[in-house]
Amino acid sequence: MSYSLDTLLLHNRFKHDKQTGAVNVPVYNTSTFHQFDVDSFGKYDYSRSGNPTREALEELIALLEGGSKGFAFSSGMAAISTAFLLLSQGDHVLISEDVYGGTYRIITEVLSRYGVSHTFVDMTNLEEVEQNIRPNTKVFYVETPSNPLLKVTNIRAVCELAKSAHALTFVDNTFLTPLYQKPIELGADIVLHSATKFLAGHSDVTAGLAIVKDEELAQKVGFLQNSFGAILGPQDCSLVLRGLKTLHVRLEHSSRNAEKIACYLQQHPKIKDIYYPGLPSHPGYETQHNQAKSAGAVLSFTLESENALRQFLAHIQLPVFAVSLGAVESILSYPAKMSHAAMSQAEREKRGISNALLRLSVGLENADDLIADFEHALTYVEEVVISKKGVN
Ligand SMILES: *Cc1c(COP(=O)(O)O)cnc(C)c1O
Repeated sequence: MSYSLDTLLLHNRFKHDKQTGAVNVPVYNTSTFHQFDVDSFGKYDYSRSGNPTREALEELIALLEGGSKGFAFSSGMAAISTAFLLLSQGDHVLISEDVYGGTYRIITEVLSRYGVSHTFVDMTNLEEVEQNIRPNTKVFYVETPSNPLLKVTNIRAVCELAKSAHALTFVDNTFLTPLYQKPIELGADIVLHSATKFLAGHSDVTAGLAIVKDEELAQKVGFLQNSFGAILGPQDCSLVLRGLKTLHVRLEHSSRNAEKIACYLQQHPKIKDIYYPGLPSHPGYETQHNQAKSAGAVLSFTLESENALRQFLAHIQLPVFAVSLGAVESILSYPAKMSHAAMSQAEREKRGISNALLRLSVGLENADDLIADFEHALTYVEEVVISKKGVN
């Protein structure tokens, strides 16, 4: 019998421990494993190479993403960086121009030192993507919806371009999770996650995951995971496993809240632009609707100026003002000074990440309470928007 993903979160191979019946995966706090036979070692030998708690998380995420194998890392950046180690000197990467700040940093400041070049493109513009393919392009790197401007890339179309160029497609699926978007089904080769965000969901752990499409990639990424060694410890694996059990209810509630808040912000005279692919007037709405089950729980918006933003921030009370997203509590972030601080002001402006932009990750509070909090804080904003651009 095949179950839907929400049921699979609870009823899977790990729902009870085979030896004891425990209803959670035991935390195997061990670095090494006794070998019972000098000639044939057991399945596990050393926890960097394999640990049963980590293995449960890795199998579960592979099942959810529809991949052949999953790998757990100590952070989203560890997962992303390890996947990039598939590249060699002389290779080229085509990458979304508004990727996560940490991904921007590793590609521009680290991989460049190892002879891996890159071109930033607007992945939503397929012509631009095609024009920038080089003979040595080996990876197309996609983040959709993108961070922080929620641009929507057509995953299937980019994967087809990549295939014709004999390159791999990596998709950062942090914002939607496999419950809402399944990049491997759309043609992607590797799916990457900051499990710190929605998958774990409680702002209590830093973790990353990579899921690969086939056995050949599984061999390569497994070798790199063990070589580089940025694995997730068993206690943190257990926290992510616990978070996953409630992923479905958390995402659904947060996304419904996000939709309500986006509609509220869209009509507010002190909000200039709103970025949320769940609004029918968003340019990526159609694509989002075709490739994902929901627009998710993250949205961004701008006020008239940085000054207006500061007045708003001084009075908003419910959301945490912090880096990160995808948690039970709503989180308001200031990309220019937080997630995208690694980017110069000129680079940020080129990408539309202005000093008047805020990103909201909507949590599990009551939507009306959140809206009332926004309404109250916005009364302190002096500047009404002069030319309302509306939806982006
Ligand atoms: C947070 C984040 C990352 C990095 O993950 P860490 O767990 O912080 O290392 C990568 N991609 C996206 C989209 C993120 O939001």
